[in-house]
Amino acid sequence: MAELKTFKGGIHPPYNKELASGKAIKRAPVPAEVIIPLSQHIGAPNEPLVKEGDRVELGQVIGSSEAFVSAPVHSSVAGTVKEIADLPNFTGAKVKSVVITPDSSQPEFAKKPGKDLDSLSAEEIRGIAKEAGLVGMGGAAFPTHVKLTPPADKPVDTVIINACECEPFLTCDHRLMLERTEDLIAGAKLLKAAVGAQKVIFGVEANKMDAADALRAKASGLPDVEVEILEVKYPEGAEKMLIFALTGRKVPPGKLPSEVGCLVQNVGTAVALFEAAAWGKPLYERVLTVTGPGVREPGNLLCAIGTPISALIEACGGLVGNPTKLIMGGPMTGWAQSDTSASVVKGTSGVVVLTADVVDLGEESECVRCGKCIEACPMFLSPNYIVQATRRAQWDKAEMWGALDCFECGCCSFSCPAYIPHVSYVRKAKAEIAALKKK
Ligand code: SF4
Ligand code: SF4
Repeated sequence: MAELKTFKGGIHPPYNKELASGKAIKRAPVPAEVIIPLSQHIGAPNEPLVKEGDRVELGQVIGSSEAFVSAPVHSSVAGTVKEIADLPNFTGAKVKSVVITPDSSQPEFAKKPGKDLDSLSAEEIRGIAKEAGLVGMGGAAFPTHVKLTPPADKPVDTVIINACECEPFLTCDHRLMLERTEDLIAGAKLLKAAVGAQKVIFGVEANKMDAADALRAKASGLPDVEVEILEVKYPEGAEKMLIFALTGRKVPPGKLPSEVGCLVQNVGTAVALFEAAAWGKPLYERVLTVTGPGVREPGNLLCAIGTPISALIEACGGLVGNPTKLIMGGPMTGWAQSDTSASVVKGTSGVVVLTADVVDLGEESECVRCGKCIEACPMFLSPNYIVQATRRAQWDKAEMWGALDCFECGCCSFSCPAYIPHVSYVRKAKAEIAALKKK
């Protein structure tokens, strides 16, 4: 068998996908209240368009901004605004949020008759993405209409759908590929039309062959859609790694995929674009995975944006065993939580609960110069030297060793026998370098 496409570096963590990969998507119950942060994206924050006591309808815009790099926020329920306040989001940062008490019975979303998808112009597709509040749903949450507006001198010829889902435990994209195959392909074609590309490539990791087969079956006869199988390796789905694996093109440091004629979008975003264009549906709910050995009945849930983690865990039968670590997102790039109060945002792909028997809580010790972090780094950086420079507050050296090129994948920390949390050091270095540049 020919070698599967991949990138250099990376790691093979235990994937643990079997906990939820066979579980069909089910709708999560509407929680007692939703907490919807008004900024869930990279870019300008939104201003509230509602006030305490207002009635809101499902899908109503409740926050927006005049800025180009921003994405409006919609109500995920029909109900009454209970409060508008600065509340901690999943990172712990305080963000202006709208708390809504849902009505006891919720309406179905009323699909609006859309235009023929094939007739939509690039401009119309970008407008639909903006109005629907679409952002990258793989975690980065960059506004989609901005990504669909590459510089005029950087034509995009290839749209890549990141169908790797390389983070351990998460399976929501896998389920979308199986259960929403046609809508996903339609969304991918809209992305292609929006940037005037010639083709779409789905990059699927080899541990989801059923999804690859489903995509191939539905895409047969479409000359502009390809399905490629990639090696199972983390972080295969990271933009630069995925572009290299599929096209051999290298995105230069500090540059965007459009530099090499590519646009990368996640599975959830492509499905959401289809729903926005075909049904007029804004991004007010998403599919995510609630899983881990600490969850009684792991599964894939379609839930309202703003649903607290506690309600999702309850919907999955509650906690079990000896829960030790709660993570919003995947275990490699997610955010550790101190309690279950944070709410789901557009970029939340999962909630993972780990138990004491699977969490390796080794103590940080001195570097033994084994070089494993260098070997694992897909950006070819020297994470050990970034750590050293950060400990010594030598910010010029941290930059020289590539702190700004690090995309915080965590491969270095995972490989390190000295339990050094490289990513924490890199984040510190980035913040200090940014502060110095600002001065
Ligand atoms: S230095 Fe950054 S990019 Fe390299 S392995 Fe570590 S986290 Fe990933
Ligand atoms: S993996 Fe850890 S111990 Fe080995 S060189 Fe890197 S920082 Fe040092």
